[in-house]
Order: sequence, then C-alpha cells, then structure tokens
Amino acid sequence: MGVPKVGIFFVVDNQLLMDAVPVENGEPYGDTMGYGSHYEFWETMTPSNVIEKKFKARAYDAYPRGRVVYFTQKKLFVLYADKCLKSGELKWLAEQFCITEPVFARDEHYQCATCNPFFMD
Ligand SMILES: [Zn+2]
Repeated sequence: MGVPKVGIFFVVDNQLLMDAVPVENGEPYGDTMGYGSHYEFWETMTPSNVIEKKFKARAYDAYPRGRVVYFTQKKLFVLYADKCLKSGELKWLAEQFCITEPVFARDEHYQCATCNPFFMD
C-alpha cells in the first residue's frame, strides 16, 4: 500500500476516475483535509480514452461519485459515496486511495443520474 490519499472519484462503467493527493498535501478545511472538485475535474478534463469520453459526454453528475476526506482530530478517513455503490465497490475504492480502515458514509450530494430523481442530462 502507498501513502493514504484524499480526493474525489467517479465510477464510470466499473472504471475509476480519481483526482487525489497524499493526505499531507490536501487542503485543510476546519478539522478536515480534502482535495478536489467534481465539477472542476469534469470541466477541465481532456478525454484520452473511451471511459473518459463517456464520462465527459454526459453532465458532470451523471455517474456515481464520492470523496475521501481525512478528519485530523479523530484521525480517520471517511469515504463518502453515492448510495448505488455497493460494499465491494467501496472496499475497492478504499484500496485505490490506499486507506486501510475507512469509515463508509453516504452523502446525499452524491447522486448519479440513476439515483437522482431530478437529474437532467
Ligand atoms: Zn447512484
């Protein structure tokens, strides 16, 4: 395992798109360290493969997404994710961020096209 990371991710057809940095390079906010913006990641991406092209072809919030945040006081990593990402996927995501003991949480902000009843492409 490498250095634990914080940042954002999307899951597009079982492939991971992530924008992350080692936790010590994260952006402090209150007692948390986080990194990245889903919208900016989508907005600034120049697609270079099929998955990225699929991702870019739809609205930034069309695919399941989430975020890993480190809580500096409690010394724990929380992985927030869309509710349609199942436990196996969550464990796989935690591995990609090099986090051994994550807390998994849902965040209503993270709803993909399938989960969001008000979604518009
Ligand atoms: Zn979803």
